Amino acid sequence: MSSLPVRPVVLAFALALAACQSPPPAGPGSAPDHTALLFEDLKASPAVLQAFLRAMPKGGDLHSHLSGAVYAESYVQWAIEDGLCVHRERLVLLDCPPAADAANVAVRSVADAVRDRRFYDRLVDALSTRNYRLYGRSGHDQFFATFAAFGAAARGRSGEMLAEAMRRAGAQNILYLELMASPGMGEAARLAADLDWDDDLARLRARLEDARLDAIAAAVRAGLSEVEREARALLGCETPAPDPGCGVTVRLLAQALRTLPAPEVFAQLVFGFRLAHADARVVGVNLVAPEDDPVALRDYTRHMRAVAFASREAPNAGIALHAGELTLGLVPPEALRFHIREAVEIAGAHRIGHGTDVLYEDDPRALLELLARRDVLVEINLTSSDVILGVTGDAHPFPVYRAAGVPTALSTDDEGVSRIDLTHEYVRAVLTYDLSWADVVELSRNSLRYAFLPEPDKTDLLGELDRRLAAFERAARSFQDLLPPASAAARNASK
Ligand SMILES: [Zn+2]
Repeated sequence: MSSLPVRPVVLAFALALAACQSPPPAGPGSAPDHTALLFEDLKASPAVLQAFLRAMPKGGDLHSHLSGAVYAESYVQWAIEDGLCVHRERLVLLDCPPAADAANVAVRSVADAVRDRRFYDRLVDALSTRNYRLYGRSGHDQFFATFAAFGAAARGRSGEMLAEAMRRAGAQNILYLELMASPGMGEAARLAADLDWDDDLARLRARLEDARLDAIAAAVRAGLSEVEREARALLGCETPAPDPGCGVTVRLLAQALRTLPAPEVFAQLVFGFRLAHADARVVGVNLVAPEDDPVALRDYTRHMRAVAFASREAPNAGIALHAGELTLGLVPPEALRFHIREAVEIAGAHRIGHGTDVLYEDDPRALLELLARRDVLVEINLTSSDVILGVTGDAHPFPVYRAAGVPTALSTDDEGVSRIDLTHEYVRAVLTYDLSWADVVELSRNSLRYAFLPEPDKTDLLGELDRRLAAFERAARSFQDLLPPASAAARNASK
């Protein structure tokens, strides 16, 4: 959902997973049973549950936009280092105007402006959804506005951005990140700037020159390698004390912007799949930006056809699509009736992002059966759906998907913008939907099973996850000691 293209990003990282600590000897009874009982006790203390779930091995985060994964504090720091300015009323980071315009009091250097602590706090609020209710703005509008507000500070910072995402993942025992970013997408869109839409997609494709697409891809691939090197250097991956984030495997999804003119969206999709075909570090394609945008709504079916057509450039690439990230009132009811179905039936999506409006679609029972039959995973972003759509608790279809046998995984969407992390989303899911330990393990495993990795890589990561989970279960009793007395009393009374 981030609406801002970011510079070249991410990469494949050697799978250098730390060996698990040697486990203590197993006690009487099976460790999984013990963990399942302990897990029920932990629900009485969300604080301890959080610590437990943070330490728990979590397979991957399959829905995370790199620019939205960065916290506002990092963007402010980079803005200071880069000598950027801030518009004091709109709270947008921008290049400082020429000296001749210095009389423009609405714009100040970020370094000067944030000496005022109250301004600093307001700026962090503006670059995220923190405290958004205080400002009389909807969560939807505040969320999407942040990407333009911090965009200037993201320039040239892809290495740091990646390092931040990897560091946070490593600290939460996450093995895998599939990050969405837009490397080369601006250039790809420009290839179609003068093109008119043509429903004959083969004819439209013929107007995009392979040589120019491949030149962009070559530049992107070199940029990705540099970003990877920079991130690993920041994390000390080649030092005797590497950050745990060095062990996180990272892959990239190329994201096209659904709010652009249709020929440019088409060019981005073609480029995205072509890049995925050329570079194993790019494992799939997604369509992003607000699904409720008038252009996105108008062109929705066109985009689905474009995805299906463009995917021929890389038959093995994954297709994950934001679809059904809508709710009644945000758009007319007619727009709620077909997005998820078309994403699967027309575009051939392997995964659906959000899928929040599934029960508003035509024949939702048949649609759920279709998703289950085709084994299409739905990426569940609980906090994002709450803030952007106001859909929470039983109004969210997460339990409906589960009951229908549709695979799901928990993801963050934009952990920096939303001021969360993946652990937070696990805690929220457990407490809102009373998930069991077995449910949580399944969600963790799903986030690798449905990754867009080649099968051997996926098998390796799943094996590593299972080893870490087994070790975690053997050591999980230590969390019992953290439970406050009230929880312990309740636990004993229930036995
Ligand atoms: Zn998203």
